[in-house]
Amino acid sequence: MTETRAMRIISMLAGVAAFGLLSACSGQGAGSDKSDGADAATTETGVVNLYTARHYDSDLPLYERFTQETGIRINRIEGKPDELVARMRSEGANSPADVFIAADAGALWRADQAGLFLPVQSAVLDARIPENLREPSGKWYGLSRRARIVAYDSAKVKPEDVDSYEKLAGPRFKGRLCVRSSDSVYNLSLVGALIEAWGPEKADTWVRGIVANMARPPQGGDRDQIRAVAAGVCEVAITNSYYFIRMASGDNESDKAVTTKVSLAFPSLDGKGAHVNISGGGVAANAPNKANAIRLLEFLASPESQTHVAASNNEFPVSPDVPPPPPVDAYAAFTAHPMSAAAFAARQPEAQSMMSKAGWR
Ligand code: FE
Repeated sequence: MTETRAMRIISMLAGVAAFGLLSACSGQGAGSDKSDGADAATTETGVVNLYTARHYDSDLPLYERFTQETGIRINRIEGKPDELVARMRSEGANSPADVFIAADAGALWRADQAGLFLPVQSAVLDARIPENLREPSGKWYGLSRRARIVAYDSAKVKPEDVDSYEKLAGPRFKGRLCVRSSDSVYNLSLVGALIEAWGPEKADTWVRGIVANMARPPQGGDRDQIRAVAAGVCEVAITNSYYFIRMASGDNESDKAVTTKVSLAFPSLDGKGAHVNISGGGVAANAPNKANAIRLLEFLASPESQTHVAASNNEFPVSPDVPPPPPVDAYAAFTAHPMSAAAFAARQPEAQSMMSKAGWR
């Protein structure tokens, strides 16, 4: 994510009053069962107000398709996840937000802690999204998956050197590891998962091992770590899967050249698979257009939407029965750890304090 981008307000109407007016004719409270009928799809009108921390232009065609299929217009506000959470908190009961989307389970968890989600029941969402990738009471749902894994120098590192997260913190990689800073939500979720799996003591040892292994103080995003491996600054880097896949399959020739020297490994956590985070969303606590909000989530969870997000943003589908499209299909044969995203997300505050005490900048 380019989390440095300032909050953008897109397609906003004239303010809260206008939203209130529109919501009066949006058919709120109808529930999700209307969404499958062809008649409902062509006759329902209104708007849905989407607060999203996903900023990918490749998502825009999805929103257009939703409007074509349902007649429901999307008013989209983009921002950093915590800015959007703060905004919804300050708007309170008058918040026009219908749906909040973030690209990390921890951000969803923080929004939930702030009381910003309404639990919703949807047989469609329950059927499409595995239990461990949604909040148990229906407050948020995973809509795409991203593995937090390892890119390594193919000439210097053997695959068996990077087949577990433990090995990254071991002596083999002293001074040879690149990773971004501890304020990255992706790192917080990874360490949260280790705390959940191992308990705080072993996780703390791991965090200290990572700090000892850093080739340089954390700087840049995940792609910068991968480039640093190719440049010989380090031998291994921790990265989200889609950044590497995008570099390997995109149009940027220098990034493509980087990935000819670097391989992707999916380390296993306790032999159960790689740490997988989600991008996901939920219905806002005071959603003025609740039925439309559920329809948008159901649309984003549809096999077509999952395929679009996987193909265009190089993430993995959440549904096991949605085949990963190219180019991610070439990387999709890994085992994902079955840990509940809600469980590791709730560990983020603990992870943050552990990492900063260990000197992980
Ligand atoms: Fe990202």
